[in-house]
Amino acid sequence: MKLEFRDLKTQYKKYKNEIDIQIQEVLNSADFIGGKEVNVLEERLAEYVGVQHCITCANGTEAMTLIMMAWDIKEGDAVFVPDFTFFSTGEIVSFRGATPVFIDVDKDTFNIDSIKLESAIKDVLLQGKLKPKVIIPVDLFGLPADHFEIQRIADKYNLRVLEDAAQGFGGSINGKKAGSFGDAATTSFFPAKPLGCYGDGGAIFTNDNELAEIISSLKIHGKGDNKYNNIRIGVNSRLDTIQAAILNVKLTAFIEHELEDVNNIYEMYTEDLSNIVNTPIIPKGYVSSFAQYTIKLKNKKERDALQTNLRDEGIPSMIYYLKPMHKQEAFSDLVYSENDFEVTNQLCETVLSLPMHPYLSEQDVKKVTNVIMNFKST
Ligand SMILES: *Cc1c(COP(=O)(O)O)cnc(C)c1O
Repeated sequence: MKLEFRDLKTQYKKYKNEIDIQIQEVLNSADFIGGKEVNVLEERLAEYVGVQHCITCANGTEAMTLIMMAWDIKEGDAVFVPDFTFFSTGEIVSFRGATPVFIDVDKDTFNIDSIKLESAIKDVLLQGKLKPKVIIPVDLFGLPADHFEIQRIADKYNLRVLEDAAQGFGGSINGKKAGSFGDAATTSFFPAKPLGCYGDGGAIFTNDNELAEIISSLKIHGKGDNKYNNIRIGVNSRLDTIQAAILNVKLTAFIEHELEDVNNIYEMYTEDLSNIVNTPIIPKGYVSSFAQYTIKLKNKKERDALQTNLRDEGIPSMIYYLKPMHKQEAFSDLVYSENDFEVTNQLCETVLSLPMHPYLSEQDVKKVTNVIMNFKST
């Protein structure tokens, strides 16, 4: 069978019966928007993450935008975002007219560098042009960011924290789950994320009652006590019922075995590879949900050669990310010094993500590691 980068077909085959039944039930009830599937999912997600409120919405990007709207983030505000992440994390800041301030990441965890974060906050305050408002730590590749230190910094400078857990669902630090850090957190149910649906979907997590109420209103046209009484300008951002029904089956699989399975695969990979390439570093007390298993090579030449070699052997691999945020054309109006992004610039040239999903067999892992071992020994 073909080795997949992320195998959604095998997962579907395993759960086909239950997923088909759940979809059919939605079709029979003709309840396509809202409905009990969405409520059940929100309750289960909030319980799993360990927060008071889970509010589902259209996707992970909208989840973050809704929070930015509720917090009234606007022109003149500075929002601190890691330089090494998916475009969305910075996009939602500029979308509000605010200014994203990109921060370099840690060379081992690939997550926002707290020391550079604090000095950037000081710089913004010193320059006095922008008002520091929010930090958006990203749980990159499934590994939670340095959340306790980030919270300390946020408290010191009176900033809000939005945890972007689009890739982080299932991860934890000392048992505290991703999605429960900061003032609010978001996740994405895009099919390839740790918990994915069969289309677009997203969710917001928070313990803040007032924020939860505002977001519940914003996501349905700023509704008041009903949908035809509109008390603020909002958007239309709902998770549809069929997706919720699918997620209810997949969440059970995720909790029962998928999170454990990807962690076993991480160990298998690392056992073979840790002596020959840089393998993922998981700090003590941290659990990753391995949205990606990402290795680091010596330089761009070696990374690109390995990717070609893997491709020739029928093994898919991906480069997350080829371009740092500060080099994206959409942000070309912002002025930076390249010296501020030493680590991110280097990562973009040296990282390579290998096939990673709960249905990867030991044989497949061996196939991948053998190609890499042969590559390194020639
Ligand atoms: C996928 C992703 C998002 C956006 O999620 P969508 O559901 O695709 O909108 C945001 N941030 C990060 C880090 C992501 O990986």
